[in-house]
Amino acid sequence: MTDEMANPDDARGLILIEGLARQCLRCGKNLCMRQQVLNLALGVDDYLLCLFCLSEDNGKGPAELLASLGPYVQSRQCFYKEWRKYGSEAACPDPLGCLPKNCFSFT
Ligand SMILES: [Zn+2]
Ligand SMILES: [Zn+2]
Repeated sequence: MTDEMANPDDARGLILIEGLARQCLRCGKNLCMRQQVLNLALGVDDYLLCLFCLSEDNGKGPAELLASLGPYVQSRQCFYKEWRKYGSEAACPDPLGCLPKNCFSFT
């Protein structure tokens, strides 16, 4: 736990952005790092929502929201440098709580 060099979380795909919420404010679901980035891309960094709650707020389906935000995230270095830390679907800590097929069409 205290060995920061080894960073065992990395191996388990639990890479998250430091200093941001790790749970959805509304439903309490654990967030993955890409969901954190989606919030940032929408200009939110104080209360984070999961993909599903976010899409509700934006009046879109989760797949639709990903499709509209994906290219934006890729075009912004500050977001993309985090986003691409998940190299593949296997890196998502909660594939059932996400749409990894859609999410990882934006590598
Ligand atoms: Zn939620
Ligand atoms: Zn995810």
